[in-house]
Amino acid sequence: MRIGCHLSSSKGFLAMAKTAESIGATTFQFFTRNPRGGAAREWMTSDVEAMLEYFEKAGIRKPLAHAPYVLNPCAKDQGLRQFARQTMAEDLAKLEQIPDVMYNLHPGSHVGQGTEAGIRLIADALNQVLGKEQHTVVLLETMAGKGSEMGRSFGELAAILSQVECADHLGICLDTCHVWDAGYDIVENLEGVLEEFDKVLGLGRLKAIHLNDSMNGRGSHKDRHEKIGKGQIGEAAFERIVNHPALRDLPFYLETPNELEGYGAEIALLKGKRR
Ligand code: FE
Ligand code: FE
Ligand code: ZN
Repeated sequence: MRIGCHLSSSKGFLAMAKTAESIGATTFQFFTRNPRGGAAREWMTSDVEAMLEYFEKAGIRKPLAHAPYVLNPCAKDQGLRQFARQTMAEDLAKLEQIPDVMYNLHPGSHVGQGTEAGIRLIADALNQVLGKEQHTVVLLETMAGKGSEMGRSFGELAAILSQVECADHLGICLDTCHVWDAGYDIVENLEGVLEEFDKVLGLGRLKAIHLNDSMNGRGSHKDRHEKIGKGQIGEAAFERIVNHPALRDLPFYLETPNELEGYGAEIALLKGKRR
């Protein structure tokens, strides 16, 4: 089982690999830069190389780079859209240094322009930043649908994918808290939700799972993560999720409200549920 959690990148790449190993993780997620400010951090090639070497020794793979939250490729303001594209392009260029990394992106918020316009603007941005030569797979995250957030349904994500030329470079990251908050019943009907995913997007597109319980009820559109088993999704549902044949071989990333110790305990808990 490949499982890890979100880690702070403030001490660099090698430090993240060591931290992951110390809590029993075999993968991890990190922000490419300050999640709210978007300021670029210096990437030391030697640090990236040291991390990759450490990966071999520790059995770590598939680090997931998360784009900063502030990016909005479908903003109304042209300057904000430009900033999102520029940041994505810069991040993707740097990520080429890491062999099996994926880049996770929140599709954006249409801020009153409507879903159709949002879909078109996100696809435009992806068409500009995705190159045929890139190896990094870009993941669109399933969103809770807070406000005018895009990606609240499998259909919206499929509509974006259908307008992207290099769509073979695109995948989906399913966030359990987000899909639950968006209204998908992964507690009572995981099978049905995955069938719908397969019909609309194709399970081949599913590349990563964000494991989060939710503080709120199904369809609440709130996006408040909770510790595994402490929220409305519940431990039994997570046991089914980590064992489901369509999901069990994917990398799992925790984004629960925890310090390192809590993450370590959740990783152990979920490993213990594997059949
Ligand atoms: Fe996210
Ligand atoms: Fe997430
Ligand atoms: Zn979230």
